[in-house]
Parts: sequence; structure tokens; C-alpha cells
Amino acid sequence: MHPELIKLEKTFSPSILTKIDDPLLASQRIELWMKRDDLLHPVISGNKWRKLKYIIDHALSLSADTLVSMGGAYSNHLHALAYVGKVLGLKTIGLVRGEQPPMLTPTLRDMQAWGMALKFVSRSDYRLLRHYKSWHDLPGLKPGQYWLPEGGAQRLALKGVAELVAEIDLRYDTICLPCGTGTTLAGIVEPAPEQVSVLGFAALKNAGFLAADVAALLPQCRNNWQINLDYPFGGFAKTNTELTAFIEDFELKTRIPLEPVYTGKMMYALYDLIKKHHFKPGTRIITIHTGGLQGKRH
Ligand SMILES: *Cc1c(COP(=O)(O)O)cnc(C)c1O
Repeated sequence: MHPELIKLEKTFSPSILTKIDDPLLASQRIELWMKRDDLLHPVISGNKWRKLKYIIDHALSLSADTLVSMGGAYSNHLHALAYVGKVLGLKTIGLVRGEQPPMLTPTLRDMQAWGMALKFVSRSDYRLLRHYKSWHDLPGLKPGQYWLPEGGAQRLALKGVAELVAEIDLRYDTICLPCGTGTTLAGIVEPAPEQVSVLGFAALKNAGFLAADVAALLPQCRNNWQINLDYPFGGFAKTNTELTAFIEDFELKTRIPLEPVYTGKMMYALYDLIKKHHFKPGTRIITIHTGGLQGKRH
């Protein structure tokens, strides 16, 4: 790995595994642990570092000087990329979905302050950008520019996510995580121990396409995983009072902050499934806190 990346990673905090205690869990004889990838770094959101690490290493090995990627106005992916670019002295360009808002979101303001050039693209053009999946694919890319598809959905992302699985020194039955593009899930499916089932929760509605996207990222067919589509709460980044109340209650009881876009929805869904006896008594579940807390600011 590039020495600059090793140096950056040395500044990270460990992603600890914490046991969650709750009367509901005790009554159902479910043991629940959370892997705190949100603690890795105050800015570079948990799973975003896992996914970016080897992609950026590849870009550096090609002597790229500019990282180009796409995302929404609250994108944790672009936010992490802008920060990493600043630290490594690489230029960054963010293709942002939709028209430029009259007031930049806190996420966009950070990105700009870290030197990312923001280019706003119409929703229809944004959808077309999703066709370009490989680092050299984007039309009009100049020499030295390296393209990252939405959410860093590239094979190389899986290698970094696998390190998360290797850090878990506990036997477990199920591992749960929220899904946007499903790339993090794909990275967990590969190295997960054989008897473990991987359960993703879609943050988007109508996310039926996700299973095919995940399968396309996996080097071989695996059947140890599934994606639950039942808890989108009306759609990506939408919320309601029930979800907000759940998150507040969870934070109060555990002192672990959640955000409503990914981890909050996943934990709500997981508790709901536990209440409905979805898991056998004695099941040990590990959830991944994928970070993303910066998106909570408005
Ligand atoms: C981006 C993100 C996800 C989704 O990750 P994918 O690999 O795209 O499925 C989940 N949680 C948080 C906090 C994120 O920022």
C-alpha cells in the first residue's frame, strides 16, 4: 500500500465491537453486538474508508492526480473522498446530483472547503453516469484523472471491506448492515465465515435491483446473503416520527449515535424482526455501524 495511505490509516481509531444490552434482546435470547466503524475517523465515514482504501491505492499506483466521483448533496462518499484528497494532496471533482441549491448543504460546504470542485448535474444526466463503472470509463476523462463510480462500487472496494470482517474475533451467526449500493455487503459476503448469514437492509425504496448489483460485484456466486427491502421508510433519506423516536431511545440507552439514513433504519428493522421472532433464540448477531454521522447536520 502507498506510504501516504499507511500514514493516514495510522491516525485512525480502532473500530471496537460493543455488546448491546436491552431487555428485548434478553427476553428473546438474542445476543447483539455492534462493530463501531463510525469510530474509525471523525470525518472519513466508516464504510467509506473501507471502500476507498484500495481504490485510492490503485489511483496512486497509476500516478493519478485527480479523483472524480459522483453523489448527492449529503453524500458521505463524496465527503470522505474530498477529505482524503485534501490529506493526500490529490485534486478532487464531485459530480453532484441535481441543481445547485441556493445554500450549499453542510456536506457540500465541507467538500468545497477541502478543495473539491463541485459540478452540479441534472438528475437525468446523473442517472447516465451510473453506466460508467470502471476507473477509466467516464467519457471526457483527462490524463491523470481517475473515476470512481457512485458509492465506490468497484471490485477493489471489497478488499478493504474484507478487513472489517477479519477484525471480528468472535463466533457469530448473522451479520447485519445497511445497504446503499450494496458494495459494502458484497465485501462482507466474500470473507464471511461459512455458517454466517449476511443480512442487508436497503436504505432506498424499490431496491429490487440491488441483488443483481451485489451479484455482479462478487467474483463467484454465493448464497449466504440476502437484502431486506421492507424498511425504506418512504425512500432514501426519508424519515418519520417512529424512526426518530427509535433512534433517540437507542441513543439514550446505549450512548451510541445513529443517523436516520442508514444505521438508524437498519437498527429499527433489526429490532422489529427480533420482536417478530425472526431469529432463533441463542442467535448471536453482529451489526456494522457504517458511520455517516456527518449527514445528521442540517
Ligand atoms: C454509503 C453508506 C452506506 C451504504 O454503503 P454501500 O456500500 O453503498 O451499500 C451505508 N451506511 C453509511 C453510513 C453510508 O455512508
